[in-house]
Amino acid sequence: MMKFIEHLFDFAAYESCGKCFPCRLGTKRGHELCIKALNSEYKINRDLFNDLLTTLEKGSLCAHGGGIPLPLRNAMEYFGGELEQYFT
Ligand code: SF4
Repeated sequence: MMKFIEHLFDFAAYESCGKCFPCRLGTKRGHELCIKALNSEYKINRDLFNDLLTTLEKGSLCAHGGGIPLPLRNAMEYFGGELEQYFT
C-alpha cells in the first residue's frame, strides 16, 4: 500500500502542470517523503502529512491536485494497520 501511495504522488508530480504551488510542490514533497519512508527508518509525521493533503485539497486550482488526497485518505483509513510502520 505504501508503494501505491508513492506511485500516486509520483504520477501526480509528473502530470502536474506547475501552475499552482500546492500541487507543483506538494506532490513532489509527498513523493520524496514516501521514498524516504520506504528506503530508510524514516517515519512520516502524520499531522504534517494530513496538512499536506489538506493544502492540496484546498489550495489546488484544478481537480488534479485537489483530487489526489481522496485515494490517499482512503488508503490511510482502510489500510491504517499496514501503513502504521511508515508514520509517527
Ligand atoms: S492543481 Fe491543476 S492547475 Fe494546479 S499545478 Fe496541479 S495540474 Fe496545474
